[in-house]
Amino acid sequence: MSQAPGNLFILAAPSGGGKSSLIKALLAKYNDGSMQVSVSTTTRNMRPGEQDGVHYHFVSKDQFQQQIEAGNLFEWAEVFGNFYGTSKIVIEQTLQQGIDVFLDIDWQGARQVKKALPQTHSIFIAPPSQETLRKRLTGRGQDSEEVIEQRMAAARSEIEHFNEFDYIIVNDDFEQALSELEHIVLAQRCLQTQQSAKHQQLFKNLLQK
Ligand code: GDP
Ligand code: ADP
Ligand code: 5GP
Repeated sequence: MSQAPGNLFILAAPSGGGKSSLIKALLAKYNDGSMQVSVSTTTRNMRPGEQDGVHYHFVSKDQFQQQIEAGNLFEWAEVFGNFYGTSKIVIEQTLQQGIDVFLDIDWQGARQVKKALPQTHSIFIAPPSQETLRKRLTGRGQDSEEVIEQRMAAARSEIEHFNEFDYIIVNDDFEQALSELEHIVLAQRCLQTQQSAKHQQLFKNLLQK
């Protein structure tokens, strides 16, 4: 069995849309090393409970600027006044190992990634309503009332881009949304190009006279 490259997935949503929860649940289910989430670099402050290197690589604005200048970032964007970016080398190496990678990034980053790698599968996660989105942001208990208001205002500018994505999942019932995400991932793994690379020997055997 030879190696097929991993699939690259983008998950975008307004803040509180459920990206992190859905990726976490999927990774917990596929605990076999076949998929990973990319750890972004950010200049925003660490939230309670977050760990450097696990949730994000937390850096200063100067350090972030250096990463841009060194060409280390696959994509980067300014979101809510902070900078966020994806490491180029980590993505390349992980995909080369045949591991699927999830990028939890905003629409600006999604555009850059699609342009660089058009075979990327992009997924937009929509909340079932504005009220539910606000409730989830409040319920998460991570952000102040002021930050939540900012994020609600910014939600519209993220949602405006929903039609640039390949797939849309409405995250109303969590299990249903997770199942839809899982099916999208499994469908890409069954693409002819992926399967041909993975099962070269099988097809040789099947075609033997
Ligand atoms: P969340 O929206 O509550 O998950 O808050 P975060 O602070 O984790 O993310 C803030 C924004 O930055 C979101 O829109 C993310 O999609 C975006 N983001 C996170 N990582 C990256 C990245 O590596 N690149 C880009 N372009 N955007 C990112
Ligand atoms: P994001 O990463 O997109 O900002 P999160 O995954 O942090 O969003 O989800 C925001 C909050 O909403 C979390 O507290 C999460 O537990 C909750 N949540 C996510 N999806 C659902 C759902 N389908 N039903 C109820 N609560 C949800
Ligand atoms: P938070 O600050 O709540 O962790 O993230 C806010 C937003 O930044 C989310 O919508 C998240 O998807 C986006 N984001 C996080 N990391 C990156 C990244 O590396 N690149 C881009 N473009 N956006 C990111």
